[in-house]
Amino acid sequence: ARIKGNYRYELGELASTLNYMAEEIVRSNQIKDDFISSISHELRTPLTGIKGWSETLTSGGFDPEETKIGMGIIAKETDRLIGLVEEILDFSKLQSNEMKLVIGEVNLKELLQETMLNVWAKAEQKQIQLKLEDKTEGSSIISGDGNRLKQVFLNVVDNAIKFSHEQSWIHLVISRVENERVRVEVIDTGIGISEEYLNKVKDRFFQVNHQGGGTGLGLAISQQLVELHHGAMEIQSELGVGTTVSVTLPLLNDSAPTGTQTQR
Ligand code: ADP
Repeated sequence: ARIKGNYRYELGELASTLNYMAEEIVRSNQIKDDFISSISHELRTPLTGIKGWSETLTSGGFDPEETKIGMGIIAKETDRLIGLVEEILDFSKLQSNEMKLVIGEVNLKELLQETMLNVWAKAEQKQIQLKLEDKTEGSSIISGDGNRLKQVFLNVVDNAIKFSHEQSWIHLVISRVENERVRVEVIDTGIGISEEYLNKVKDRFFQVNHQGGGTGLGLAISQQLVELHHGAMEIQSELGVGTTVSVTLPLLNDSAPTGTQTQR
């Protein structure tokens, strides 16, 4: 009777494992479908611009000024395509644990200043004021991959600009937490995210709507990059009020890894 009991238990366990696997397959198919529809849409938009302008310019008869405008659009849309492809490749590297970090000393304050310069023109277009406040009262040097961390902050600040109203402001605040970590907060007064969606925005492909374009991969990539740096990313938001994204990272300690480090 005891053997029978165990057998029944194992069958039950097997059934629930199979059930779980079936659900996982359905879930991953759904993710693939979302991926294909989101990416196809995003790729089509710049491609349409490039095709349209290249055909128009090939047909000839434009003055130099018009040609310059057309070439400018082709260049801009090509950059957008390259950005999308890089985002997809980064996501796939993170998924398969193949993301390599090049670790060095990173001055977070300087990194944020560079990030702000990179997005200045975009903010200017919407007359959004960008401000950096340093509350660390000391250094904000951490051990990490400067390019990857810049990618994280560019993504977060870019979102803040995308989802902010014209003539508003975005504050970046750096502070220390318990003398061993440093926190960067990106605070906006934009459209905000409702409670219903707040837990989902860091999920891959999730977008509240398609308002700002994009693939819905940015925050998923950023979160994973921050975690690879032994840090954490949190989002607080209120619909119609604004959003604060905080990234907390360990401050430099002497035993931190240097050189090239592969994801654990
Ligand atoms: P993408 O920007 O490509 O859509 P993200 O993963 O960066 O992808 O963001 C996912 C979604 O989270 C956005 O589409 C948007 O709906 C929401 N979101 C992100 N940042 C903000 C913000 N600062 N304010 C309001 N909504 C935001």
